[in-house]
Amino acid sequence: MFKVIERLLGDKIATEKISLTGSERFRGKITGSCPENLREECAKACPVGAFQVTADAQGYAVDYKKCLFCGKCVEKAMGSLQHSSDEALPVITEDAAEVTAEVIKQKLGRSLHVRHLDAGSCNACDFEMGAMSNPIYDLHRYGVHVDASPRHADLLMVTGVVTRNLEQALRMSYEAMPEPRLVMACGACAAGGETYGASYAIVGAADKVVPVDIYIPGCPPRPSAMIAGLLAAADMLAERM
Ligand code: SF4
Ligand code: SF4
Repeated sequence: MFKVIERLLGDKIATEKISLTGSERFRGKITGSCPENLREECAKACPVGAFQVTADAQGYAVDYKKCLFCGKCVEKAMGSLQHSSDEALPVITEDAAEVTAEVIKQKLGRSLHVRHLDAGSCNACDFEMGAMSNPIYDLHRYGVHVDASPRHADLLMVTGVVTRNLEQALRMSYEAMPEPRLVMACGACAAGGETYGASYAIVGAADKVVPVDIYIPGCPPRPSAMIAGLLAAADMLAERM
């Protein structure tokens, strides 16, 4: 923060280039091979069932739509698994292809209007969303704007696990949007739906209610991961027009 203030007073330019590499402590995608004797332990340690044992040499597959990036599986693997510090990854599109850093770096050719709906979040995802507009991330430089109404939006950004109280609001927001429209499920609650388990008050992941085009893993995701998803969305929208 002090660096930003210092630069504002000096050069009067606050916007920074977004680094796609996180700090050493950042927990990104899980890498490495899991030893055969520890695979079951790692899977048992996962609180949301995202870590699945496989028979290949790597020994596991992670469902990043559910993963909380809590690090429990990495701890159990006794140094064989690591979290990557590449903070922009993974972003998952509807056909399960991961968006690469190269794609993320491409500039937008058009604007993207976003309507946000909190379907039942703890608000941490929403705070990170707010950070996209600060001088560090400066979302507007990409031509992305947050709208007050779904009627003007290209993309519906959903945070939080969908609760019974907000299920109808989510459906109605989607139906109010003009075509072509996209939906982005932002964070482990909206993308995976397992964070709070099952209850009478919970419907689940956003794709139980509306079709989802882009999933942003993380609990909460970093602003750069959200921006990466929005840039991927703008590309998808351009293809559909
Ligand atoms: S980091 Fe992800 S996959 Fe590993 S235990 Fe936590 S939630 Fe499960
Ligand atoms: S994904 Fe995590 S941070 Fe986001 S709303 Fe759910 S519990 Fe909160």
